[in-house]
Amino acid sequence: MGFSLARSGNTAYRGYLRSGAWFRRRRAWFTAVKDSGREAVCQVCGTTQRLDLHHMNYDGVSQTPTGAWVSGEADEDLMPLCRTHHEQLHEELDRRRRDFWGRDRRRATAMIVVGLRKRRQRQSTPGPRRRGRR
Ligand SMILES: [Zn+2]
Ligand SMILES: [Zn+2]
Repeated sequence: MGFSLARSGNTAYRGYLRSGAWFRRRRAWFTAVKDSGREAVCQVCGTTQRLDLHHMNYDGVSQTPTGAWVSGEADEDLMPLCRTHHEQLHEELDRRRRDFWGRDRRRATAMIVVGLRKRRQRQSTPGPRRRGRR
């Protein structure tokens, strides 16, 4: 088992996020969603355009002794977010690091996503999508 990245902060997996292994894992995730007949949408605003995948955690990601990355993320550990909301999420993860100290990244992510949705509803410029739903 390679080393765990869970505790080592952002810099440890920066290399991974630029790797071919992640590129392929990301593509496989979107393919799997599509094949299952679902559509990937930003978990904050619902757009389907230009989606990133956020790691709820890095369980399963490791590096071999030769430095090759192993993409063992579970599908459900990856969360689709548009670029804007992905950036906002990371800003908040960094800024509120102290609030989230001791919580796992999944919890912190879930809390921030709820906060971003609420903020968006309050600002509620009636978006082109989801009008009149619920
Ligand atoms: Zn979004
Ligand atoms: Zn992310």
